Amino acid sequence: MTVQTACDLAQYKLYIDGQWCDPDSGETFVSENPAIGAGWADIADGRAGDIDRAVAAARRAFDKDGWPDLIPQERAKLLRRLADLCLERGPEIAKLEATDNGKLITEMMLQWRLIHELLLYWAGMTDKIDGRMIPSPLPLDVRGTHLPNCFAYTRREPVGVVGAITPWNSPAMQIAYKFGPAMAAGCTMVCKPSEHAPVSTLEFTRLVDEAGFPPGVFNTVPSSRKDVGAHLAAHRDVDKVSFTGSTAVGQSIVRASADNMKRVTCELGGKSASIVFADADIEKAVTGVMAGIFAATGQTCMAGSRVLVEDPIYDRFVAALAEAARGMKVGDPLDPGTQMGPIANRPNYEKVLSYFEIAKQEGVQAAAGGSAHELGGYFVHPTVFAGVTNQMRVAREEIFGPVASVIRFNGEEEAIAIANDTDYGLAGGVFTESIPKAHRVAAKVRAGTVWINTYRLVTHMAPFGGYKMSGWGRENSLEGLDAFLETKAVWVPVE
Ligand code: NAD
Repeated sequence: MTVQTACDLAQYKLYIDGQWCDPDSGETFVSENPAIGAGWADIADGRAGDIDRAVAAARRAFDKDGWPDLIPQERAKLLRRLADLCLERGPEIAKLEATDNGKLITEMMLQWRLIHELLLYWAGMTDKIDGRMIPSPLPLDVRGTHLPNCFAYTRREPVGVVGAITPWNSPAMQIAYKFGPAMAAGCTMVCKPSEHAPVSTLEFTRLVDEAGFPPGVFNTVPSSRKDVGAHLAAHRDVDKVSFTGSTAVGQSIVRASADNMKRVTCELGGKSASIVFADADIEKAVTGVMAGIFAATGQTCMAGSRVLVEDPIYDRFVAALAEAARGMKVGDPLDPGTQMGPIANRPNYEKVLSYFEIAKQEGVQAAAGGSAHELGGYFVHPTVFAGVTNQMRVAREEIFGPVASVIRFNGEEEAIAIANDTDYGLAGGVFTESIPKAHRVAAKVRAGTVWINTYRLVTHMAPFGGYKMSGWGRENSLEGLDAFLETKAVWVPVE
């Protein structure tokens, strides 16, 4: 790993109305490389006035410049061109992204391939957005006389200007999840990436520009300040907010959006349960649970952070999981052999350390990890807490780090009750060799995604989103497209 000096810092501006520009404030902020805990990129620091300019450009592109009326095949061509650029330049951007957020280069490379495929999927969707014909002879009077030959049809129209507010974990993937369906639908967009790890979103923006999307259709305004995101969420000229982030901020976005009754979708946090039954294939279950909690250093919304293990195999499973956790290769995210990188930024690092203290106060034993890593930077040890009960804070609150809280249960009914005893409902895993039990439990877990004998499989082809406080609406797939469309009924008497 090399340390960069201030003069080496990569420079990034705002992107508004098809131009790279300086922010009104003239200020910048520094993005850190979490593997060394030092700044490496200098980012233009947007303010409310910059959001206003970006929204005005997006409004004009939508209302006056004809983006929603462009024939679908033309929008598809742009999406395909962007998909090709993502395939070509993805590996190079993946390195920048891994430097910016500490995620493994192997995962980032894979994500850019997925972004390529996702954009092709949405390119293919542009000319398949159609409506329904509803034959509806209208009753004219109480005797039941009808106006014959009257029907209604539906048009599915783009929702308008979208404010996209994204988090720092997998930032490029998160904006691509929103961008693809929004562009297929004919919306325009203003993106406000997280103050942590904004670089890959700006690189994605560069590719959007190169692909030839018209000015104003997509705009990116990074900022170090939370009130800038709040300004976008409250903006009266924005028709919809598509938000991914924490539940607390999601709630404030819902409140801010009420003023002009924006459409809102929220992809929020979780405290998902991996349920391991006594009849599970233990080796497969350990692999699945590890993927659920240690992939991306546990910094995923869908992390299987509660591990529910059936009594007869509890001790054996904890021992196997702890041994596997201790054996993980923690280190440089740019090294393809690394299995777990650092925590992505200082605030989250401090948050994870604080939960190590909370666990001690709650009397929980660390079967593995439970401390900062000797590597320095923002590294911690992969952690397995055993003997956890579902009432403890480590089982109820989203830690957003590589911390598995292992809880004992007896029987199917208790497993389902514990899994559902949470404010969240994003995801879950079921590990068993019994096919009927797997499907029974998958049906009863109140979560938007359930994996059977695996964990953390996600693509743009399947809907993703949360029950309860894990979100509103769905992203990806046909449900994800609906979130960027309004439905209009048009009535036609043909007498
Ligand atoms: P966060 O909620 O702190 O920030 C998310 C975004 O909101 C950032 O761009 C931030 O600048 C902005 N923001 C902060 N305060 C705001 C306000 N008052 N108004 C408007 N915008 C504001 O979340 P984070 O720390 O960046 O990301 C981690 C969280 O995201 C976790 O809770 C995780 O579970 C969740 N997440 C969910 C999904 C999902 O698909 N469900 C995916 C990834 C992350």
